[in-house]
Amino acid sequence: MSDVISAPANVFPCTQCGGELHPDEGQNFLVCPFCESTVYIDKTRVVFHWYLASTLDQPKAQANLARWMGGSATIKDLDKKARLAGSSFEFFPFWVFKSKDKSDNESLWLEPAAAISVSELKNITVPAGDLRKFDESINAQAHAPTIPLPTVMEWLKPRLPADAEISETALVHIPIYTFKYTYKGDSYTAIVEGATGGVFANIFPAKAESPFRIVGGLAAFIFLCLATFPVLGALTGGNGIAIGGGLCIGLGLLSAPFLFALAVWVAAKV
Ligand SMILES: [Zn+2]
Repeated sequence: MSDVISAPANVFPCTQCGGELHPDEGQNFLVCPFCESTVYIDKTRVVFHWYLASTLDQPKAQANLARWMGGSATIKDLDKKARLAGSSFEFFPFWVFKSKDKSDNESLWLEPAAAISVSELKNITVPAGDLRKFDESINAQAHAPTIPLPTVMEWLKPRLPADAEISETALVHIPIYTFKYTYKGDSYTAIVEGATGGVFANIFPAKAESPFRIVGGLAAFIFLCLATFPVLGALTGGNGIAIGGGLCIGLGLLSAPFLFALAVWVAAKV
């Protein structure tokens, strides 16, 4: 852990040059007066602090969202049917770790540094892009980290390969657009990552959702009804069981093509 350095309170060595940093009480962001590195101070640790520049402006991010909505993951014509309810932009904080194993293989790990509205964002990989020194000019749009670094490192440890260690740690602010939209009276949230345009959403009007469930449910219901015929037949006594069984098989065979056709029609429609 070469650049995660513990130090006495209120004096921290710079991660870049080792120069003594003297943050004020409660001060998290600092520019090293010696080498001008931007660092973040998380109680007992000091790490590099970067932000990723956004390559998309709001209209372009919205166009990306529309393309995703028009794509195959979502319900047909969602891009035309959804109504946009609002959008916001921020730089969202992530703890970024570089791990190294004995053969010097490096891996990158990203963990959200604050609570996220779309848990899918946990699957974000390090977006390729222009990493810059964090600076005051983006502070107003930057979401402050609320999940402490030591907590996240505890989560990460069991996931690292046995012979790997964390070799670098940084706080990186990643640009995200959060879009709220409604579809058939329900509200949804989708996030467009501003460096590469990736779309993240947990819940969205997806294909293979309710219409398929309705067809599946209908089929299950019909067969359940049919299956009760032999039981009812048996209860009536005599040759009721044979009649019930015959009805069950006959009606089952008759309804199967209709259910199949219904499933095909639903698949073409959504
Ligand atoms: Zn320095």
